[in-house]
Parts: sequence; structure tokens; C-alpha cells
Amino acid sequence: MNGEHQAYIGLGGNLGDAAGTVRTARQSIGALIGIRELAFSSLYRSAPMGPSDQPDYVNAVMKVATTLAPLELLHALQQIEQTCGRVRTGERWGPRTLDLDLLLYDELVLDSEVLTIPHPGIAEREFVLYPLAEIASNLKIPSRGPLRELVQNCPLRGLSVIAHD
Ligand code: ATP
Ligand code: CA
Ligand code: CA
Ligand code: CA
Repeated sequence: MNGEHQAYIGLGGNLGDAAGTVRTARQSIGALIGIRELAFSSLYRSAPMGPSDQPDYVNAVMKVATTLAPLELLHALQQIEQTCGRVRTGERWGPRTLDLDLLLYDELVLDSEVLTIPHPGIAEREFVLYPLAEIASNLKIPSRGPLRELVQNCPLRGLSVIAHD
């Protein structure tokens, strides 16, 4: 794929100074060669998915322009997760310092072993949909429909804004 693409990245974390980690990750992503920030949502607090015996999450969504291919972008994000102290325990949806999900890449629909786009949880997760709507209210999600409608059908589950970055 050539030229410049638009992608959306979901940031989240719930161990240590999660807001600080999300802010550091934002800087690290923007500092990558071949990626520049176009928009960044507020920081949100959300209830954990899956195991409930873990702290609330801090979440945000970032819009970027990139010359990286989807897999290159995924690998760059995974490196930043490692740098920020992500330890993979094998527990699904367990606590982590930093989680970076590739939510959308242009209008791409892709389902491979290592990368699914749009991100599989995008249409049901309040901590993705609300921050996304904040920075891209008119977005249409490939194979899911208008973001506005997805937001309307998604309960807040206590989601709240904690900081306007
Ligand atoms: P979820 O994917 O439901 O949000 P998670 O973020 O906790 O759960 P991880 O353990 O971070 O899941 O990732 C598991 C694998 O998901 C990664 O190794 C990666 O290859 C794969 N994956 C598939 N599609 C994506 C995507 N769009 N963004 C990030 N990772 C993806
Ligand atoms: Ca850059
Ligand atoms: Ca995730
Ligand atoms: Ca992930």
C-alpha cells in the first residue's frame, strides 16, 4: 500500500499511573517515523471487561496519518506496549500497563491470524465508541455502519471523562 493512510488507535491501561502511560504512549506513537497525530480524544475512565477484580481502565482514541502498512503499524504498536512494560500473562482481558489496539485503517476490512480490522470489539465497547465519536463523529465503520448509530445503541457502563488532553 502506498501513500498516506488514516488509522485509529485505541489506547488503554489499568496498572500503575495509567493516565501517565497513555500520555507517554501518545507521544511515542506520534514520534514514530511514518506516523503523525491528527487528533486525540479526552482521557476516559471505564469499568474493566472480563475479570472484574482489577482496577478501572484509562482509555483514549488517537487518529493518525501513516505511511506504514497495517501489519507494520501493529508491530510498531506492540513494541510501544513492550516499552511501556506490558507483560503478557495469557489471561484474557487481564490487567495491563498498556494496550494499543488498531481500530480502523482507512476503509480496510481484514481478517487474518494476527490482525483483524476493524478491531473485533469496536461496535460494542463504550470505551472505544464514545472517544471515537468525540474525534470522528461522522465516521462510518466498514461492515458495521454509522458510528453515530453504534454509539446510540451502546450503554455507557459508567464511562466518564477524566481529562481533556
Ligand atoms: P481485545 O483484542 O479483545 O481487545 P486484548 O487487547 O486484551 O483483547 P491482546 O492480548 O492485546 O488482546 O492481543 C491479542 C492479539 O490480538 C495480538 O497478538 C494481535 O495479533 C491480535 N490482533 C488482531 N487484531 C488486532 C487489532 N486490530 N489490533 C491489535 N491486535 C490485534
Ligand atoms: Ca512521527
Ligand atoms: Ca484491547
Ligand atoms: Ca490488544
